[in-house]
Amino acid sequence: MGTQAQKIVDYDLKKLIEHLNKALSDEWLATFQYWVGSKVVKGPFSPLVAKELAEHSKEEYEHAELLTNRIIVLGGTPVLEPKDWYKFSTCGFKKPTIFREIGLLEDNIKSERCAIAVYNNLLKEIRGKDDVTFNLIEQIMEDEIEHEEDLQRILEDIKLK
Ligand code: FE
Ligand code: FE
Ligand code: MG
Repeated sequence: MGTQAQKIVDYDLKKLIEHLNKALSDEWLATFQYWVGSKVVKGPFSPLVAKELAEHSKEEYEHAELLTNRIIVLGGTPVLEPKDWYKFSTCGFKKPTIFREIGLLEDNIKSERCAIAVYNNLLKEIRGKDDVTFNLIEQIMEDEIEHEEDLQRILEDIKLK
């Protein structure tokens, strides 16, 4: 909790914390989607794909960590119930059905595209109103852009084989 940190925010604090809790819910679901995908993936490229998915899972966890810390500084409470992740999430959860590499990659690419759109909208919403949160979201969005690209590249390589 930071009194001055909250004072300098030129945006409805409650609404800002809601945005951040929605993003946090997406990040928890993304953390698990990547993690479980890295465990169940099957096929000749599975070691490569599993490694990338596991890495992304760790990075989504770091995003959850960053968002949580920011929510707390702003005087909010991070979402406490896993079932609320579904309720607050924008991008949802894609349960792996077919465990082949291509399907898992395609699912996760869709999720990344959703995440990029969510963060891009949030940046538009808070631009000029809260520099600290703005910079944090920008930093997270850069990771999501890298995630999309990593997965697209691997998918193309698999299709070229
Ligand atoms: Fe993320
Ligand atoms: Fe991501
Ligand atoms: Mg990567």
